[in-house]
Amino acid sequence: MTVKSKVQRFLVELGGARALGPAGVEIRQHEPMSRHTTMKAGGEADLLVVPQDVEGLRRVMVAAQRAGLPVMILGGSNVIVQDGGIPGVVVKLSRLNHIRPAGADRIEAEAGVLLPRLARAAAKAGLSGLEFAIGIPGTVGGSIVMNAGTREGELAPRIESVTLMRPDGDVVTLGREELRFRYRHADLPHGCVVSARFTLQPAPPAGIDATMTRMLGERNATQPLHSPSAGCVFKNPPGDSAGRLIEAAGLKGHRIGDAQVSERHANFIINRGHAQAGDILTLIRHVGRQVEQRFGVTLELEVKIVGRAARSRPAPRSSHRGAGGSGGGRGTAAHHGALTTRVVEV
Ligand SMILES: Cc1cc2nc3c(=O)[nH]c(=O)nc-3n(C[C@H](O)[C@H](O)[C@H](O)COP(=O)(O)OP(=O)(O)OC[C@H]3O[C@@H](n4cnc5c(N)ncnc54)[C@H](O)[C@@H]3O)c2cc1C
Repeated sequence: MTVKSKVQRFLVELGGARALGPAGVEIRQHEPMSRHTTMKAGGEADLLVVPQDVEGLRRVMVAAQRAGLPVMILGGSNVIVQDGGIPGVVVKLSRLNHIRPAGADRIEAEAGVLLPRLARAAAKAGLSGLEFAIGIPGTVGGSIVMNAGTREGELAPRIESVTLMRPDGDVVTLGREELRFRYRHADLPHGCVVSARFTLQPAPPAGIDATMTRMLGERNATQPLHSPSAGCVFKNPPGDSAGRLIEAAGLKGHRIGDAQVSERHANFIINRGHAQAGDILTLIRHVGRQVEQRFGVTLELEVKIVGRAARSRPAPRSSHRGAGGSGGGRGTAAHHGALTTRVVEV
C-alpha cells in the first residue's frame, strides 16, 4: 500500500478527515512541525491528530495500526524534527489535560498536562516534590519517557504508576519499578502514556511556592528562555557538565545558519529565526566532534532527533559569535553522520 492509500484508510477508519469528526479527533494533514516544537523548526507531519479524550486516542491508535501507519506521540520540547518531516501520524495529547487529587499525598495527571501546571496544582494542594518541574516545558507523558529532571530532582522517585495505551488500544497500568528509570530515560513498552499517579509529601503551600520562585529565577538567569530551543542538547557525562565542556571548547556563540550555540548556556542550541533542522544537526555534530577532540569525551544526545532528512537543502555557512548568514547555495542530500534519524513508533 502507498503512503497515500494508508492515510486514506486511516481517515476512513476514523470516520473522515473533517476536523473534530465523529471519532472525537481533530485531524490536520501536512502540518508543519515548526508550529508544534519549542525549537520551531522541522518539516511537516503527514498527519497531526489531537484526540479529544482517551476514547479518541484509542480510535487513533487502532486506526493507525489497521492502516499500517507509524505513530509518534509529540509534546514537542525535547525533539528536533528533521526537515523531511514525520511520516505517518503525530499525536498531540493537549486535550488530555486533567489533573485529579488522589488522596492525601497523591495526585493524578493525564499525559497532556504540562509539568509547570502540575507543579502549581500540587503546590496548591499542599504537596511537595514536584517543585523542580516548574520550569520544564514538557508534558507529563514526554517527561515520564525522558525521566525529566534538574539538579534538584527528577520525576522517577515521585511516580507511583503509569497508565499506558498499547498500539492495539489496550490499556495497562505499570508500577514505577517496572519502568526501570535511569538518567533521562525510562524503559517503557511500546505505546502511549495516558496518565500517571504521583506520590508526594504534604507541606505548606507558601514554602513550596517560595522554592519554585527561586528555581524559576535561577533558570531565567542561566538559560536562554526567550529564544526557541529544545533545552539541553547533550546529557551530562558522569561527573561533569556538557555545558562546561562545550564552553571550554570555545563554542559559545558558534553559529551555522540561524542555529547557534547559546551565549547564555552552552548546552542549548537556539533558533535565531529561520534555522533549518539540517543546520541544527550540523551544529550538534560539530559541537560533539570538537568536545571529543579537545577532551576525549563523547557526548550523548539528550534531545531526540526524529523524522526524515530532507532530500536536499541549502548548504549552511559556519561562523563564530553571531556573524553568520542563513545558508548559501543548494547542497546535496543532508547526512548527519552518527546522529540517529528515527521515527519513534508505538
Ligand atoms: C527551555 C527548555 C528547558 C528545558 N529544561 C529541562 C530540564 O530542566 N530538565 C529536563 O529534563 N528537560 C528539560 N527540557 C526538555 C524537555 O522539556 C523535557 O525533556 C520534557 O520532559 C519533554 O517532554 P515533551 O512532552 O515535550 O516530550 P517530547 O520532547 O515531545 O518527546 C520526548 C520523547 O517522549 C515521547 N513521548 C512524548 N509524549 C509521550 C507519551 N504520552 N507517551 C509515550 N511517548 C511519549 C516522544 O515520542 C519522544 O520520544 C527543556 C526544554 C526546553 C525547551
